[in-house]
Amino acid sequence: MQAFRYIDGTVTLRLDRQDCIGCGRCSLVCPHRILRLEGNRAVIVDRDRCMECGACQTNCPTRAITVSPGVGCAAHIISQWLNTLLGRQVFKGCCE
Ligand code: SF4
Ligand code: SF4
Repeated sequence: MQAFRYIDGTVTLRLDRQDCIGCGRCSLVCPHRILRLEGNRAVIVDRDRCMECGACQTNCPTRAITVSPGVGCAAHIISQWLNTLLGRQVFKGCCE
């Protein structure tokens, strides 16, 4: 799913580094490796690759991360991926 991105600049993912304690959970659970630790605190590496699954927010113990799951349309990205695999238009995202 490396090639799939949502529309640049629309992802709702936010990170407040002041609240980060550097536990690393977000970088472990993120399926796209969008978060990583730098200087014992998390950083966002490539925000526009975020599929807004919400896993980082759910696993962050300090609520340093906020994201609105689904707003960036993970369903759309997944449907594109499945359509490509199946070679036909079968699944539709919420905005199609
Ligand atoms: S919402 Fe999902 S894809 Fe986006 S940064 Fe968090 S874990 Fe990664
Ligand atoms: S899960 Fe939260 S506290 Fe832990 S490294 Fe990520 S942002 Fe920081």
